[in-house]
Amino acid sequence: MSRKTETIPLPATSPGTSRHLTVWRWGTPGARPKVYFQSALHADEWPGIMASHHLSALLDKAEARGEIQGEIIMLPYANPVGLSQSVNDRVLGRFRLADGGGNFNRDWPDLSPAVLEAVRDKLGNNRDENLNIMRKALLEVVSKLPEESEKDAHRKALLGLSVDSDYVFDLHCDWEAMLHLYSHAEHEDITMELACDMGVPVVMLDTGLVGGPFDETHANPWVTVRKELGLNKDALPPACFSTTVELRGQCDVSDELGSLDAANMYRFLIRRGVISGDADDLPKALCKPSPLDAIDMFTAPREGLIAWKKQLGDIIEVGDLLAELIDITEPDLSKARTPVYAQQSGLLFAVHTDRLVRPGTIMGKISGHEPLAHRQGAQLLSN
Ligand SMILES: [Zn+2]
Repeated sequence: MSRKTETIPLPATSPGTSRHLTVWRWGTPGARPKVYFQSALHADEWPGIMASHHLSALLDKAEARGEIQGEIIMLPYANPVGLSQSVNDRVLGRFRLADGGGNFNRDWPDLSPAVLEAVRDKLGNNRDENLNIMRKALLEVVSKLPEESEKDAHRKALLGLSVDSDYVFDLHCDWEAMLHLYSHAEHEDITMELACDMGVPVVMLDTGLVGGPFDETHANPWVTVRKELGLNKDALPPACFSTTVELRGQCDVSDELGSLDAANMYRFLIRRGVISGDADDLPKALCKPSPLDAIDMFTAPREGLIAWKKQLGDIIEVGDLLAELIDITEPDLSKARTPVYAQQSGLLFAVHTDRLVRPGTIMGKISGHEPLAHRQGAQLLSN
């Protein structure tokens, strides 16, 4: 085994308890490109843990062969806090139970204002110098973040490992879903390259820090600083490609899928020069990217039992009957069903795990390409 292991303790939250992060490292500290992987920030999403398990084996072999050119950091589990939240024998890992609650992947700090102040008089036209100044400033800003509570200490630890990376992979999953990716619109080319290598049928691009997910915290400062200071992309490229990779659904955890995803991400690392070798021809794209406001996250108009009329992976047309919601309290069965019709054409790429829903519950997601009026200005991510 050639990986190096580091343990980062988190503050004890109650007498007699302790938690820590496990960090694996390959390659040479400080070498470029630097790549950061983390799994299960939403702690009830485990396909990324399986993919990381398989990827770590490939990286051990690459290191033994002397093929790792850059630096690779991996957290096989990013959220020991969420993993410990077992309630009635189920891990409830999406929302924090302590420290004020909240979604583990929302409201990450916007580092842009402090980074902008730190670099305002230092950046010029030398690209390499600018990259160094920006990365140093990002690390400096993170080093000053609060760390008293477990929540803050946890966030600061993750950002301290990741914020100066060239590539950030945040491995998640959806309820029942097909592979899909989120990233910043400025990284469309790299995102599509990764999508081709991984065989991804849905790619979503956004343009800002809406909702504050982990990936945008990394991509956003580069874009904000460049625009605020009027620099061009040659002088200050968006040098941190950060993506949320949704590795299908919560139950899609297997050696077969994990080893497939690991092999595909490994090939992308070769293609990007992180690991030496031949990446082969880029597979063909399975989709065009979608703006986030063209993704229809359709909701339940009332409470009820879902009878799906379309299946995950179906191609949908506007007006198609997606499902019926059954009012199980209605004795007149001719009146018991409420139809749910599609408002977007595209791929039905995610559906809720629950088949009995509340009004307003997101029932499923359709990837289209035409922006939707009812999605504009709305929260662009599910809660
Ligand atoms: Zn997630």
